[in-house]
Amino acid sequence: MTITDFPTTASGVRSPIPDLHAPSPGERALAAARFQLAEASRFLGLDDGMHHMLATPRRSLTVSVPVRREDGRLEVVQGHRVQHNLSRGPAKGGIRFHPATDLAEVTALAMWMTWKCALVGIPYGGAKGGVAVDPAALTPRELERVTRRYVNEILPLIGPEKDIPAPDVGTDEQTMAWIMDTYSANAGYSVPGVVTGKPTALGGSLGRAGATSRGVQIAALQALTRSPEGATVAVQGFGKVGALAAQYLADAGCRVVAVSDAGGAVVRSSGLDVAALRAHAAETGSVHGYRDADPLSRDELLELDVDVLVPAALEGVITADNAPRVRARLVVEGANGPTTPEADLILAGNGATVVPDILANAGGVIVSYLEWVQNTQAYSWSAGEVEVKLRDLMENAYRAVAELAAERGLTLRQAAHAIGVGRVAEAHRMRGLYP
Ligand code: GLU
Repeated sequence: MTITDFPTTASGVRSPIPDLHAPSPGERALAAARFQLAEASRFLGLDDGMHHMLATPRRSLTVSVPVRREDGRLEVVQGHRVQHNLSRGPAKGGIRFHPATDLAEVTALAMWMTWKCALVGIPYGGAKGGVAVDPAALTPRELERVTRRYVNEILPLIGPEKDIPAPDVGTDEQTMAWIMDTYSANAGYSVPGVVTGKPTALGGSLGRAGATSRGVQIAALQALTRSPEGATVAVQGFGKVGALAAQYLADAGCRVVAVSDAGGAVVRSSGLDVAALRAHAAETGSVHGYRDADPLSRDELLELDVDVLVPAALEGVITADNAPRVRARLVVEGANGPTTPEADLILAGNGATVVPDILANAGGVIVSYLEWVQNTQAYSWSAGEVEVKLRDLMENAYRAVAELAAERGLTLRQAAHAIGVGRVAEAHRMRGLYP
């Protein structure tokens, strides 16, 4: 079976799947997401109407965000909030600040959130937001103004029972605090449950900051077919997810031999001191120039002969071009959409296992859910209680995916999508169509 075979659904009708080689990275991500959905729909035997409904976001809002720069200039940037699906509960998903984000990318990311929440069994639909700014190029005050104005523009969509944002690439606890404050100021009272990933001082959950990375560690350890002791790991992306994933894997006994970020890559075959590297990156802004390691190109990192490769940055990193040279036995996707559908086929053909994004990086939204539950109850759990619940949900989801994959001869990604998409389709069927 080739990629181009897939866009035809069970009844022979071509479904609306855009070009996998579309010019913008966002359009390629959306093509990949729709391709995965088409595959799952075929496996589940969904009819074309259901497939079409799941391929189409429920609501998309594009807004202009005027921002006053420190020198008095006025600039206008675009922002989006896409609610892909609301059938299983309020929409849930992060907000991304990145200069290249666009509506297509945000739509793909929202669709992945829908399947992710369904797969791990938390009562949410999927959403995502994006603002086309480079947070590193703005002062903290400019960033605050962009955040508050963007939130003001999407205010009709969000709320603790409607759509609950969270951090994603380029946003953090401080961004979430501003969102909570802007929403609360408009409501006239404090609404901590409107956003997750908040500082603990505002009702954030213990364990949320490292939750995605903890989930990556849990998924990697479940998928490893050997002892973690001495298993070699390369991590692409050393930000919020990658740096702590490297740390947690090192804590579990793995040998983290290489890491990269936007500034460069470093390698040390006897194992990097991840804590020292994190301190270096925090101080200088990059892993580049870390003294106890050799420099490496960022492309070479992806092709190292390691047990585990963790892509933990952006989409479309492992492609048809480099997949034939990827030697990692296990790829654990900390990022959303790092492997293209063509690369997936190549990796599977070469015997590599890929723990897909909607499973591997679900720790973040799981602890977001736990945070929202704590906010709703005005109660808080200890770090230990949060960790036990996170581990439980991750391990249950992993087990279900691995079992279906083994039973039906699917890749872990195909099985994960079959479960996630199947649960959403089931919710649609039970609810019926209004009117
Ligand atoms: N941005 C994260 C993700 O892609 C977390 C979303 C959330 O916590 O709502 O899964």
